[in-house]
Amino acid sequence: MSLPVTSAPSRPKVIIRRCESYDVEAIRTIIREGLETMGLHPFGHTLIKPNVVASGPMFQNAYTRPEFIEGVIAGLRDRDDGKVQELAVGERCGITLPTRVAFEGAEYYPMFKRAGVKHYHFEEEAQVEIPLTHEKRLRDYVFTPEPVARADFFVNCPKFKSHPWTTVTFAMKNYIGIQDDRHRMIDHDHRLDEKVADLQHIIQPQFIAIDAIIAGEGRMLTPVPVDLGLVIMGNNSVAFDTVCSAIIGLDAKDIDHIRFAHDHGFGPIDLSEIDIEGDVTLDDAKKKAEGFQVGLVRVEKYFEGTNITAYAGPPPETEHTDYCWGGCPGAIEEAIEILRQYDEECDSKMPRMHVVFGDYQGPIDAKADEPVVFIGDCAQFKGEVAGQLIEVKSLYRDRSERDPYDAEHDDIYAKMYSVGRKVAHAKNEPFLRLEGCPVSVAEQALALVSLGTMKNPYFSPSEAWRFNKGYLAWRGVMAGKKIRGIPYQRHGCYQQRGAAAPE
Ligand code: SF4
Repeated sequence: MSLPVTSAPSRPKVIIRRCESYDVEAIRTIIREGLETMGLHPFGHTLIKPNVVASGPMFQNAYTRPEFIEGVIAGLRDRDDGKVQELAVGERCGITLPTRVAFEGAEYYPMFKRAGVKHYHFEEEAQVEIPLTHEKRLRDYVFTPEPVARADFFVNCPKFKSHPWTTVTFAMKNYIGIQDDRHRMIDHDHRLDEKVADLQHIIQPQFIAIDAIIAGEGRMLTPVPVDLGLVIMGNNSVAFDTVCSAIIGLDAKDIDHIRFAHDHGFGPIDLSEIDIEGDVTLDDAKKKAEGFQVGLVRVEKYFEGTNITAYAGPPPETEHTDYCWGGCPGAIEEAIEILRQYDEECDSKMPRMHVVFGDYQGPIDAKADEPVVFIGDCAQFKGEVAGQLIEVKSLYRDRSERDPYDAEHDDIYAKMYSVGRKVAHAKNEPFLRLEGCPVSVAEQALALVSLGTMKNPYFSPSEAWRFNKGYLAWRGVMAGKKIRGIPYQRHGCYQQRGAAAPE
């Protein structure tokens, strides 16, 4: 099918196309026609941002498939009229893992070679400062890898998934991967949706193409596959996410980060203001996605019927929410899902335990030999546990005291050591405390492993070689840069912005 060629559309456009398989040539044709319809030609530094949060056999449905990116690259090449200076793919995968590990697990390296494109592991690039000046921003500046800051033509290629913290992860949520770990973790709490909206001020995509051929529902790292058979394209993030939300029966106005970005002026949130076309109607796409599960489940409910009992009080800044959707409670849900992937007996091996989040002042129904774990800086409690009076004080620091300049890297092996020590030490204490805001998925997984007898995913025979190879290569690159005096982050407003910088 050939779509009509138009000049740059005056209203945001979203194109929904049928695509039943990961056939590179079919994807290439769809992408080329989408670019033609939107009147787009790549130019200058053209950067493609997939979602490779996690990959490999355990996370089959978590990432943008390499065949999809290969089709996008070929489609972009078809539309290159000689103005592309560099065509590259860049990503910062899920935290603590090196992107090298995620790229390898997703079989991206052979694809890069076949397609002849450059690639960036964002954490190995210089991190540059982008000032923010809009109202209601969380910070006055954020960091992003230099290839993002200098991109002229930005192509956002997310995976169509639901998300346990932000409801969905479409175009805008994919921006969490344009920050390295230490910068990403700042504000990754009950104000995560605001953070995601703020990140839109770093760069705007000229073109978006989402891998909705096999979508993922319910979870972010270990989603249940849903055969949607769609490729959806767009030229405006808010409009794009609005249509994707409608496909799964949601009103984008109810999804905070989409509404915030709309309020920031990034695009329309009303379907009547968006041109929707393609060979699949919105109604037909909705039928395909009927019953699609999103992942917003409070932690108390999530652990019902398991050996873990969860208790959640409000995070600080209760005027924003009574529950920390973007931080520690969601992270433990993802942590347990990962452990289940690596150990079929995870739930039966899990000792009876209690996990507590936020300012919780209700009863904790623990027996003397059952671990009680307070998770996150904001956890606080005063009362009796197993006949003993305990007091846990909040360690939460106001976000204004956390400066992205000073954020530090958490090494996974150092984490393993420190978590193991904390758990061992707490054996003689009435409770265990895990500090951080947030306490990451990785750290919570390690703590659960240390408390029980489940298999440690980092030592899984199927993963250990790939993980250590990627880890050593990454650390080697960073050590080499340090020796040569190349700083990890550059202070001062970055000046060499590409054309994809928002006005
Ligand atoms: S410590 Fe955890 S639960 Fe508390 S505000 Fe921070 S991320 Fe949320």
